[in-house]
Amino acid sequence: MSYERKMLEQFAMPTQIEVEQALLRALLKHGGVIKEFGSGQEIVDEIANEFGLNKSQRSAFLETIYRKENRVKKSLLWHRLLFRAADALARNNLVTCPTQTFQLTKKREWLLTEKGFDDSLKLCKIPNARKEFLPTKSFEVQKIVKKLNESRRTEDYDPFDKDKKTVKTTRESTLRTRGFRQAVIEAYSCKCAVCGLKVSSPDTLSWEVEAAHIVPHRYKGRDDIFNGIALCRFHHWAFDAGWFTLQDDCKIQTSPLISRLPFDCGKIEGYDFFQALTKTGLKLRFPDRLEVRPHQNAIRWHRQNVFPRP
Ligand SMILES: [Zn+2]
Repeated sequence: MSYERKMLEQFAMPTQIEVEQALLRALLKHGGVIKEFGSGQEIVDEIANEFGLNKSQRSAFLETIYRKENRVKKSLLWHRLLFRAADALARNNLVTCPTQTFQLTKKREWLLTEKGFDDSLKLCKIPNARKEFLPTKSFEVQKIVKKLNESRRTEDYDPFDKDKKTVKTTRESTLRTRGFRQAVIEAYSCKCAVCGLKVSSPDTLSWEVEAAHIVPHRYKGRDDIFNGIALCRFHHWAFDAGWFTLQDDCKIQTSPLISRLPFDCGKIEGYDFFQALTKTGLKLRFPDRLEVRPHQNAIRWHRQNVFPRP
């Protein structure tokens, strides 16, 4: 029996398979990514807490003797076990290792792959049908997000994707939709661009805010950041229904038809939905990065086609 195995047994450490599964659950809980392990990192303690490891289990050292160099290297047994588990996940293509993730995101993190995402959902007993709506990062989706974030903004931007299939059938189109959602929601820091609402599900896996297409999907509107805007469900509906649009300076323009609504429309207790929307000069809360804001060509199309003419 190897020295390491003997130590694992002596300290009654969890098995590698158990740690692999705990890592997959932790990855899902943390949006698909966890930082490279190091001492004092929250994730290292979080998983140790999950197993109820005691002080000696957390602080047991492995000693490796390098005879040639005449030195002894000490490493924590718990860290070694975590690393071996994460490394096994990477070898099975369930996560990408920090060096591989770094090439894509410039962050040294373990990142779920689509295969790992599926496995983590199964482990957490979350139905696969929910997958499409979770903003969980995966290597494949992050590749799309990166491409969207880096796409060049041009004056003659065409918000229509003529080759787009409006019925989603392929794995590629599903990944693309998730990449679109993630890029838009992240650009707006998970907040509605109109009211600023930011709220997650109780399990913190998903956000209330949605990535709205400015030129809608059914008109073959592009799944890219220039044709997207993050809106809460209320404002998403009102935008699609044509209760408001945007002016060229990105101020909100509300429909004149609001004045014809019956008195009791759009009221929630003391809150008046339409009055809040018509506040003069209400501007959208856009991302700081100018290059990810909606494109004028998409906004103009919405104003001319979805917004009713007076
Ligand atoms: Zn809102």
